[in-house]
Amino acid sequence: MPHPLPNASDFLPGPVLMLGAPGAGKGTQAQLLMAEFGIPQISTGDLLRQHRRDHTSLGLLAEGLMKKGEFVPDDLVNEMVSERLAEPDTEHGYILDGFPRTLNQAEWLDTKLVAYMLPVVAICINVDRDVLLKRITGRRMSTNGCIYNIYTHPPKVDGICDVDGSKLEQRADDTEAVFHERMKAFHQKTSAVIEYYRSHGGRFAEVNGDAPVEDVTHNIRKALLALRHHPDNSE
Ligand code: AMP
Repeated sequence: MPHPLPNASDFLPGPVLMLGAPGAGKGTQAQLLMAEFGIPQISTGDLLRQHRRDHTSLGLLAEGLMKKGEFVPDDLVNEMVSERLAEPDTEHGYILDGFPRTLNQAEWLDTKLVAYMLPVVAICINVDRDVLLKRITGRRMSTNGCIYNIYTHPPKVDGICDVDGSKLEQRADDTEAVFHERMKAFHQKTSAVIEYYRSHGGRFAEVNGDAPVEDVTHNIRKALLALRHHPDNSE
């Protein structure tokens, strides 16, 4: 018999941010937490790709930057996140995946959430660069959101999604050349975000992401529970 969903607000200290380099497993882990707690995963990368498919002006601008592994300007991303957070499904919590990526975004989020008195907690997933490169260049996605890796988690039939038989695609920015640019942006801008949350007691934990998916999930749950009971986060 399936277990009832645990109440996110009993377990999670507040909205959860997934931090980590490209390929660290932020999306995979966010999707698992989303399924466990019934709260939405909000991926700024996915939102921007939807804008691209919808041919909005943001999508057109984002397309060129994403192809080069560069970040989309803060004010545009912040506004996009603000709109998404206003949707009713975020009421009982949410997981932000790939946001904030700059100090400006982190400070904006804090200012926005101060009115709700919500302690945002950040989980940083650490993975060595050579493993990240293999994950990124081997990653294949289906249109329904399933993620495969041709080296470590291949589909049963080459290039075809196991779930719905659709054709798998490689993201335009999942090439080795763009990976190096994305890593540059990560070190130049997102490292400061990691230090920002690390410097606030009770708001930060890091886990080793170079382990089987279920072990990483287990360690994230443990870290979230510890943060839930951190003295800085008690009501
Ligand atoms: P992701 O799907 O998280 O790997 O993001 C893909 C690309 O979208 C990134 O390389 C950036 O170009 C853009 N992007 C995603 N999230 C952000 C963000 N928070 N700030 C700026 N650009 C972003």
